[in-house]
Formats: sequence, C-alpha cells, structure tokens
Amino acid sequence: MDIEKEKCQFCGRQAKHFLFAAFVCDSEDCIEKARIERGGPGGHMKNKMKGEIIFGESDKK
Ligand SMILES: [Zn+2]
Repeated sequence: MDIEKEKCQFCGRQAKHFLFAAFVCDSEDCIEKARIERGGPGGHMKNKMKGEIIFGESDKK
C-alpha cells in the first residue's frame, strides 16, 4: 500500500497515515474524525468486548 499516493478522506490533502480503516493526513482533526467514524474513543467494539468478558465469567460461576 502506497500511502503517499492516497488522499486524506476528510480534507483531501496527501495522506500520511492509514488509521481506523481510513486514509488521513497529519491533521489531528482528520485523525480524530477517522476515529469517531470507527465508533469513538471507547467505541462500540470495546464496550461489546468488555460486556462479553464480564457476562462470560459470571455465566461460568
Ligand atoms: Zn486531512
């Protein structure tokens, strides 16, 4: 994957990173937007995993 040839999905400048399944530039705003699109800092995936672990342990005991 050649990131240098891609564009930031949020502002259209040259991409510098591939984060959260999105091409982003160096802007913290764009990186933050990419993170929010993936469910936020403590997103759905993390909450779901945490819940499953808690319920899984309580079910066994
Ligand atoms: Zn950008």
